Amino acid sequence: MHNPQQNPVKHVVIAGGGTAGWLTAALLKKVLNQAVKITLVESEAIGTVGVGEATIPPIRLVNQVLGIDEAQFIRDTKATVKLAIRFENWKTQGEHYYHTFGNAGKTMAFCHFHHYWMKAKTLGHEADLWQYDLNYHAAEAGKFAQINAKDPAFSIPFAYHFDASLYAKFLRKLSEQMGVVRCEGKIQHVQRCYDSGYIETLHLDSGQKISGDLFIDCTGFRGLLINQTLGAGYDDWSHLLPCDSALAVPSERHTSTAAYTRSIAHEAGWQWRIPLQHRNGNGHVYCSRYISDTQAQDTLMANLDTKPLGDPKLIKFTTGRRRQQWYKNVVAIGLSSGFLEPLESTSIHLIQSAIVRLLQLFPHQGITPHLVNEYNSQSTLEFEQIRDFLVLHYVVNERNDSAFWRDMRSISLPDSLQHKIALFKENGTLVREQNDLFLESSWLQVLYGQGIVPNDYHGLVDSLSQQDLNNMLTKMLALKKEALHKLPSHDDYIARMIEYA
Ligand code: FAD
Repeated sequence: MHNPQQNPVKHVVIAGGGTAGWLTAALLKKVLNQAVKITLVESEAIGTVGVGEATIPPIRLVNQVLGIDEAQFIRDTKATVKLAIRFENWKTQGEHYYHTFGNAGKTMAFCHFHHYWMKAKTLGHEADLWQYDLNYHAAEAGKFAQINAKDPAFSIPFAYHFDASLYAKFLRKLSEQMGVVRCEGKIQHVQRCYDSGYIETLHLDSGQKISGDLFIDCTGFRGLLINQTLGAGYDDWSHLLPCDSALAVPSERHTSTAAYTRSIAHEAGWQWRIPLQHRNGNGHVYCSRYISDTQAQDTLMANLDTKPLGDPKLIKFTTGRRRQQWYKNVVAIGLSSGFLEPLESTSIHLIQSAIVRLLQLFPHQGITPHLVNEYNSQSTLEFEQIRDFLVLHYVVNERNDSAFWRDMRSISLPDSLQHKIALFKENGTLVREQNDLFLESSWLQVLYGQGIVPNDYHGLVDSLSQQDLNNMLTKMLALKKEALHKLPSHDDYIARMIEYA
């Protein structure tokens, strides 16, 4: 009989070799090194989902931990820099706003910068809040460089866009160099222990058998181990985020490369445009209750502004999360663990944070209920926090042109989100719950961007004289302009990185 408490984990078997599988393999091997053997099984015949090209800044931490040379990474994955997402037509048709990785103004002692700006507005100050954010200026101007990352006035937090298939290849090479063993083949049968229900062995179509102590399910939406074998359950969140389909298609690149993702709202969903060095990634995320796949495809193709480089690929999904992402001796990472639409490019980050969590709670001495429960409660909170942030984009809209947007306004909100919106409306108060991936600056940009204007600003602001307030704002604007002036174009930056690689 399999007694997990007496089974130290010495062999980790990863099922699946997409972004989730290879990122897990690389990070576990890098950190755990000789303490565990790592085997990864993948099937070329099945392939990967093939999307997932926009990231958020913590990806740079992963690269640092893995010792990846940035120039080489940019060259090999055809990456570009991402400073922001430009949300178009989300509040009303024709309007847009940015959610940047930057911070408007600077962090003040007790109340956020936007309170000062709000007071200045009441006194006739004209500059928009975004004017105080260097990321915004750089994104608009198509400029980028890391000029002085240590000085908050000049720092430009950034992430990357990259080619998902090249990224998986890049990680595979790195993992294999570190000693991860790769097995090609289709998992045909999963053998479990009769008594404990734990997974013992994967049987491949080649006849090969792979046994292990801990199995990581990275088999994508199917969740071969966590779902099809163990039936760990799924919390369906379609009532909060009803989009259930996506069509993805590459198209030719533009002559100059934007340093932001575009998110363009349509009749029953939204379209992404992700600029890479060699092409653009495009996709239409939509709700099939409101438009057909054919209509969605027509909308996507009509809104490409460069020549398509293939036929659109249809992907169906159910928004939600695996009820227990760690169940018995299986941890689900990547699409097998749940899915939140790519509106804020959070899936690869969720892979990264799942791996970090697993490393922190790694069952060296055996799997215990405490480790499993802790892992699952942390991951539940993380998924819920991101879900709330995504829902915010939809529910606060002023569009009357389609049933989809009207219906989104009447969605019954989770208490956590209702509370955040109410606080902000009252007097611009922003709260960041513990470990929420999205900082106050992110909530601020989307709350404002979607049209919520607080009734009042924080009383503390009145302790600053009008003259001092004016001086502060003028100085800050001048600093942003000075910094922007120093930046080269984004295309020049990429070209220089490739040259150095
Ligand atoms: P997959 O890529 O599907 O890989 C599954 C692996 O399992 C494959 O290697 C396959 O061969 C293997 N496998 C399956 N069954 C078997 C079997 N029986 N035997 C052997 N091997 C098997 N994320 C972002 O961060 N940013 C984005 O911009 C973004 N955009 C997205 C857009 C869409 C429309 C979708 C659907 C997702 C997007 N994502 C995005 C999410 C991102 O694509 C995934 O998180 C990421 O690619 C990880 O996928 P995965 O590795 O879990 O699954």
